[in-house]
Amino acid sequence: MIAQNFEYTVATSLAEAVNLLQKHGGRAKILAGGHSLIPMMKLRLATPEALIDIGRIPELSYVRQDGDMVCIGALATHHVVETSGVVMRHCQALADGAGLIGDIQVRNKGTIGGSIAHADPAADYPASILAFDATIVTLGPKGERLIPASKFFVDMLTTALEANEIVREIQIPVQSGKTGSAYLKMAQKASGFAICGAAAVVELDGSGAMAKVAIGITGVGNRAFRATEAEKALKGQKPTTDLLKRACEKASSGVIALEDIHASADYRLDLARIFARRAVEAAIERA
Ligand SMILES: Cc1cc2nc3c(=O)[nH]c(=O)nc-3n(C[C@H](O)[C@H](O)[C@H](O)COP(=O)(O)OP(=O)(O)OC[C@H]3O[C@@H](n4cnc5c(N)ncnc54)[C@H](O)[C@@H]3O)c2cc1C
Repeated sequence: MIAQNFEYTVATSLAEAVNLLQKHGGRAKILAGGHSLIPMMKLRLATPEALIDIGRIPELSYVRQDGDMVCIGALATHHVVETSGVVMRHCQALADGAGLIGDIQVRNKGTIGGSIAHADPAADYPASILAFDATIVTLGPKGERLIPASKFFVDMLTTALEANEIVREIQIPVQSGKTGSAYLKMAQKASGFAICGAAAVVELDGSGAMAKVAIGITGVGNRAFRATEAEKALKGQKPTTDLLKRACEKASSGVIALEDIHASADYRLDLARIFARRAVEAAIERA
């Protein structure tokens, strides 16, 4: 199908993009990699009157360590995230997820800012963004806002972003001590989207017990979520096969799962338990 007519403007700075969003009063959309927005427009699921292309704003495609934070610019492509030494060193689960997105064309064009702003319930990044307790830095008419990941993903295709706000940066705290992280998924074969994806971040103390455990799950519910019941059952314990299995049985407690032609709700809930355990095991291995 063909998208409805729209105005197209190339923004040269984020401030200009925010002004243009203001001018259109919620009827314009930011264009980054276009890998989610353009298909939505072709299906007329999105009908913006204007597109504001931020893809050519210089210096928004960075990954750097700034003190105790890993800072990732909104325009960093999945390929940039996947291959960044800083990400691999400090938040490997995010690199794992980026490397599993779609195919090489999607990874070369799609951006981390676009992916989290789009908030597809089957997108890969949200699981790791939640597990790392990341902060989303946005820019709007009133200036910058820092949104904790736990407040950012609100519902299917819905985030805490205001209509005239732009994602500028994602900040992930540098993990301390003996910490490891991993992301694993069961992919839908044609698109690569997650039927279920799980990210785990585990910190081991001197005795080998899990001082910190965070598990993020995507693909299962309307939005990505933290498996808090499983985390509670694991925290402070020494990992054993039996404990991991019992604790991760709680990974999908209380979740209303999605159901579609790719997987039933029960299957997705089961995958959440299995992939949570596997991700925790892989994170422990790396810690
Ligand atoms: C064939 C195919 C396979 C895919 N497979 C996967 C997969 O396996 N896993 C996965 O996670 N994703 C997958 N995707 C989605 C892909 O990762 C997209 O690149 C991503 O979801 C959106 O990023 P984008 O830069 O293309 O954003 P765009 O399509 O340009 O924008 C998406 C939305 O975010 C908004 N937006 C973009 N940037 C910003 C910003 N900085 N601030 C505020 N709003 C912004 C836009 O207005 C729009 O509403 C796939 C896509 C395709 C086409």
